[in-house]
Amino acid sequence: MHTDEPDGADGSQDAAFHWLFGDQLGPHFLRPGATVVMIESRAVFRRRRFHRAKAHLLLSAMRHRAAELGDRVRYVRADTYREGLDRAVGDAPVTVHHPTSHAALRFVRSLPGVRVLPARGFLVPFEEFGRWAGSTGAGRLRMEDFYRTVRRTHELLMEGDRPVGGRWNLDADNREGPPRDVEVLPVPAPYRPREDAIDAEVREDLDRWEREGLVSFVGRDGPRLFPAHRAEARRALRTFVERRLPTFGRWEDAMLGEDWAMSHSLLSAPMNLGLLDPAECVEAAEGAYRAGRAPLNSVEGYVRQVAGWREYMWHLYWHFGPGYRRHNALGHHGRLPEWFTSLDAGAVEARCLSTALAQVRDRGWVHHIPRLMVLGNHALQRGWDPRAVTDWFHRCFVDGYDWVMLPNVIGMSQYADGGRITTKPYASGGAYINRMSDLCGPCVHRPGDRTGERACPYTAGYWEFVHRHRERLAGNHRTVRAVRQMERLPDLDDVLRAAGERGPDDAP
Ligand SMILES: Cc1cc2nc3c(=O)[nH]c(=O)nc-3n(C[C@H](O)[C@H](O)[C@H](O)COP(=O)(O)OP(=O)(O)OC[C@H]3O[C@@H](n4cnc5c(N)ncnc54)[C@H](O)[C@@H]3O)c2cc1C
Repeated sequence: MHTDEPDGADGSQDAAFHWLFGDQLGPHFLRPGATVVMIESRAVFRRRRFHRAKAHLLLSAMRHRAAELGDRVRYVRADTYREGLDRAVGDAPVTVHHPTSHAALRFVRSLPGVRVLPARGFLVPFEEFGRWAGSTGAGRLRMEDFYRTVRRTHELLMEGDRPVGGRWNLDADNREGPPRDVEVLPVPAPYRPREDAIDAEVREDLDRWEREGLVSFVGRDGPRLFPAHRAEARRALRTFVERRLPTFGRWEDAMLGEDWAMSHSLLSAPMNLGLLDPAECVEAAEGAYRAGRAPLNSVEGYVRQVAGWREYMWHLYWHFGPGYRRHNALGHHGRLPEWFTSLDAGAVEARCLSTALAQVRDRGWVHHIPRLMVLGNHALQRGWDPRAVTDWFHRCFVDGYDWVMLPNVIGMSQYADGGRITTKPYASGGAYINRMSDLCGPCVHRPGDRTGERACPYTAGYWEFVHRHRERLAGNHRTVRAVRQMERLPDLDDVLRAAGERGPDDAP
């Protein structure tokens, strides 16, 4: 575990320069009086095949920030960070707030002139998490316990020492399927930014780099859907809290084929770029509840996501350390097929997977249920390599960063850590997708069919998964029943035979 320098305690306040990474773009990342340094590294995009909308958003956000800072910033376009820093400041001392990945932290620590200041952009400081983790002894680091501690410590939705409304957890009120007979939810549209000259310039650069063969992207880019500067991010937060938060809880887990945004906030990208501080997001949501403008189930649900899940994942990333990415408890080594990596939704018949893949292709974003129960669930059932799955999510999602991908994909979605984050694998059959969406009705597959022409790949895939890991699952009190059920299936042999006849690259 690492420690942070308190702001200025080492004399670093005297450093004339302060470096901002591309995900440190809000006012809370500045150091008063220091000249800002920003480095646009081309190597970052050359190394991996990112979604083009993600590359566009990141570069647009950095260049918007530079334009706002004007002559207070030295903005360098370089091949690598090392070269950029050298060009920006030479040997002069520099401060930087704690970066968000192990690799970036290692790198800044290796540079003699760079001082690392405390992390910004999260509610809970490292010391506070450390105290909480220490207080649990050798026991599990449960999200629910952590979340309640955060609620108390930061006085979020509290009445004295009790949770507002008497209950800590209103999840049970937030699991409704979508309304019937609608194609899109009856909720106001999300905030939509308007592109400007900076966006156009970034797009021209990306086109040129692609033409010159310097980089290669996946997915479609534009028009931009997510905020790229502080004013847009504030407007997006206001639109969400005033217009969409009231219905957030109710349909938090639901999916509709024609409604990509549902009632979600779409604020993960600006929060992860550092354009919004989580404190202002949860305070705005709580304010709406206190003013009687949003119901408690929605507000608690949102606060749980931001003050609970987001903080918990951030701290587990550091707590588990860099070796966490190598976990592969289920021994999955399958490679990701081309149709998946290239986001070829047209190659897929299963409507839920085809829809989710098309949404990723078109926007670089889907909400948490398609991530977990459609995309991640399929990868888990097919036994794809968890590290490759993590890399895919990281490259293809506009809000994907190492710190948030590792715990969410290695832990939550792929169970590659053997259960350090979730108590059982998130594998499920078509029945769940059918209950929570309108996707199964017109699908060529039937969620109830395990075998035959119209067998649902999720339902068949679920039993195949249970069979493959029957020994491990039989030893877990949360999954032993699934193993017993699987053993009683009259057509298990047929399910397994069909799975055996499938090629590793076949799309469902
Ligand atoms: C397989 C998988 C991959 C994911 N990858 C990412 C990712 O790369 N980046 C990312 O920010 N979130 C990720 N998440 C979490 C979650 O899906 C997204 O935060 C959310 O869908 C973003 O959309 P939103 O802003 O509309 O969220 P909302 O549904 O409106 O939720 C509110 C906020 O809660 C936070 N949040 C909720 N759950 C999580 C979580 N598990 N981890 C971190 N923050 C959370 C986000 O900041 C989000 O903006 C992932 C989840 C899964 C299951």
